[in-house]
Amino acid sequence: MSPAPGAAELQLEIGPPMALQERRMATLADVLTQRVQEGAAQLCERYNGDWVRCHACGHQCPIPNGGVGVCKVRFNRGGHLMVPWGYVAGAQCDPIEKKPFFHVHPGARAYSFGMLGCDLHCGYCQNWVTSQALRDPEAVSSAVRVDPQSITEQAVELGAKVMVSTYNEPLITSEWGVAIFREAKKAGLHTAYVSNGNGTPQVLEYLRPWVDLYKVDLKSFDDRHYRQLGGRLEPILDTIRRLQQMEFWVEIVTLIVPGFNDSETELRRMADFIASVSPNIPWHVTAFHGDYKMTEPDNTRPETLLRAAEIGHSSGLRYIYAGNIPGAVGDLENSRCPECRTLLVERTGYLISGYHLTAEGNCPKCGTRIPGRWSAKFDGQITDRPFLGFHRRRR
Ligand code: SF4
Repeated sequence: MSPAPGAAELQLEIGPPMALQERRMATLADVLTQRVQEGAAQLCERYNGDWVRCHACGHQCPIPNGGVGVCKVRFNRGGHLMVPWGYVAGAQCDPIEKKPFFHVHPGARAYSFGMLGCDLHCGYCQNWVTSQALRDPEAVSSAVRVDPQSITEQAVELGAKVMVSTYNEPLITSEWGVAIFREAKKAGLHTAYVSNGNGTPQVLEYLRPWVDLYKVDLKSFDDRHYRQLGGRLEPILDTIRRLQQMEFWVEIVTLIVPGFNDSETELRRMADFIASVSPNIPWHVTAFHGDYKMTEPDNTRPETLLRAAEIGHSSGLRYIYAGNIPGAVGDLENSRCPECRTLLVERTGYLISGYHLTAEGNCPKCGTRIPGRWSAKFDGQITDRPFLGFHRRRR
């Protein structure tokens, strides 16, 4: 697939020496300071003359004139909060199961785009090339100029049903996400955030008209762990509560990292919390494999995911899924009716091999309403693998 008409590429090489990498990171930062516009008024508060406070994520950075936020992509220029605009660092069509959303139009294609930067710095990030592009000289990324119309046209051409902001933290690029979602909604697409959940009341109000589906990574239930990753626990819990109250469709993922968040106590506290918000929120417990700076812990074993799922069930959660080890977690890739245990959606990895919900999204046997966003019928699945949209080209 070719880049959209008018798409421009940054010419960045793979694997240059460190000094060159640092210069390029500076160059990328320079380029990105051009690809901005003033942030949304709801996400910015000016005070003390030319200071601004950003409300796009839970850090709520106070930023002096000339300063940048923790995310490194929002900054204060002359008392105005400038925010990322007009590019993507990558885009492709994924099966929606990869996001993962398991209670949203199974088998649908989810057109996924990302920008650069993140408000956290998780050592095990699987999208570190884009999320840490402005922090880590080894994370060499590019930015392809696009506009909301062309990216939406491509999503429609590729048969996508959902437009997703992902790959970097979407909260910090919310204005651009909303610009794309406005077009996507005009074209009849659903819209989604795949996010760390480090939100604020202001950003959730800003997003509510434009975002239908929201996946949160609940990484831990220990504030000390969150501080190691550059965040705090409380804004994430508050965001999950608000998302549910505000009637976004919410699914939660916990990447189980051995020795980090796999203790009985921590898993129990996470599951109890989710169940207290709603026992109908799907909880995906997924397997860690070594990535980025966290390569020492062993990969998560299937038994650990099964144990986490048992804990979730005993906390009252009705829909628990195990991910990242296809075929090795028994029934935990499938959806079953929580009342009569009828098999509703059969999956292996991202592949849908059976779909038995009624047109209304009910169990065909006992009629229990299954929460989610369902199609009137299963439309089939063209692929269970990603395929490309706009390329991140490297030379
Ligand atoms: S998005 Fe978050 S990290 Fe970035 S400037 Fe705003 S509050 Fe700070």
